[in-house]
Amino acid sequence: MSQRLIIFLGPPGAGKGTQAERYTEYKLLAHISTGVLLRDHVENKTELGLSAKEILERGDLVPDNLVISMLQERLNHEDASGGAILDGYPRTIPQAQSLDSLKTKIEIVAVVVFEVNKEVLIQRMLERGRSDDNEETIKQRFEVYKKETGPLIDYYKDNNLVRINGLGEEEEVFNELRKKLAPFVE
Ligand code: AMP
Repeated sequence: MSQRLIIFLGPPGAGKGTQAERYTEYKLLAHISTGVLLRDHVENKTELGLSAKEILERGDLVPDNLVISMLQERLNHEDASGGAILDGYPRTIPQAQSLDSLKTKIEIVAVVVFEVNKEVLIQRMLERGRSDDNEETIKQRFEVYKKETGPLIDYYKDNNLVRINGLGEEEEVFNELRKKLAPFVE
């Protein structure tokens, strides 16, 4: 049986992480956040962490080959065999193509796009206070999102593409997510 994946796309601060956490608990799926995995590598000073540290601090993307192999390894863990949400992956066309190359093993059941307005997002992110959440890095991450990740919405236009208004209260957003994913998730 193929591994069922749901992709979460959206600009930084759009609430992907919070909603992915809730939805994976609700449906007993694995929550795979490449941002969390990369921050763990940085903290543990692994080889990958050492090369990724400054990139994360600048708000740029970690090179595709590094992220692709990290993700593929994570997908092979037992806990992801029943399906997973990919939170923050893919973020570039080559990353999306690398998922396609696994298509005998995986199935992308839905692609969720979190839509939000930039000013609200910046405010949220400054409140969150992560180390890469200073104003300059945030702006850079927006630029990167627009240029590198935005085109994925078109890339996935023939998939089950679900648009979510990320601006509401957490509970409202979760209810919308649950309702719109219901046709695709058992
Ligand atoms: P996030 O927690 O998803 O906001 O990711 C934090 C940072 O990790 C990003 O700004 C990137 O530097 C890096 N990162 C996370 N996911 C990816 C990815 N799929 N490709 C490249 N870099 C990534």
